[in-house]
Amino acid sequence: MKGKEIISDQKKNIALVAHDNMKASLLDWVRFNKNTLLEHRLYATGTTGKLLEEELNKKIIIFESGPLGGDQQVGSRISEGKIDFLIFFWDPLEAQSHDPDVKALLRMAVVWNIPTACNRASADFLISSPLMNEEYLRLLPDYDSYRRRYKKN
Ligand code: PGA
Repeated sequence: MKGKEIISDQKKNIALVAHDNMKASLLDWVRFNKNTLLEHRLYATGTTGKLLEEELNKKIIIFESGPLGGDQQVGSRISEGKIDFLIFFWDPLEAQSHDPDVKALLRMAVVWNIPTACNRASADFLISSPLMNEEYLRLLPDYDSYRRRYKKN
């Protein structure tokens, strides 16, 4: 099976999302990793993004609030190859009105082989990886044959 590679630049496009009960934890993690994060391009869903801008004292790219479509916007940027790293602190103890969007975002991250951290320990491991400061070739399955599945020959 012949796959495809997508290059993640040295400067990564990192999307950050946190559900309400997890925002304090994400902010704490961001504070701790501020200098590293500032070397990359940051994106976030609405409310998370505003909190991050205050914390980092820097403008970042902010989508709609998650329940209003922000998770879907992040997922769509992933499928366009514009985001190559996801930190998503979703709440394991509370149902979300936008649960289908949460699931869809996590699914897109797997489909496009995006490094994803859904809790603090995973985020620690990811951000301290030597690959953070290098180009990375992200391998994808052969989606071309999937796209062509109804074509004759
Ligand atoms: P928010 O959205 O950053 O606007 O709170 C996050 C989410 O619930 O997906």
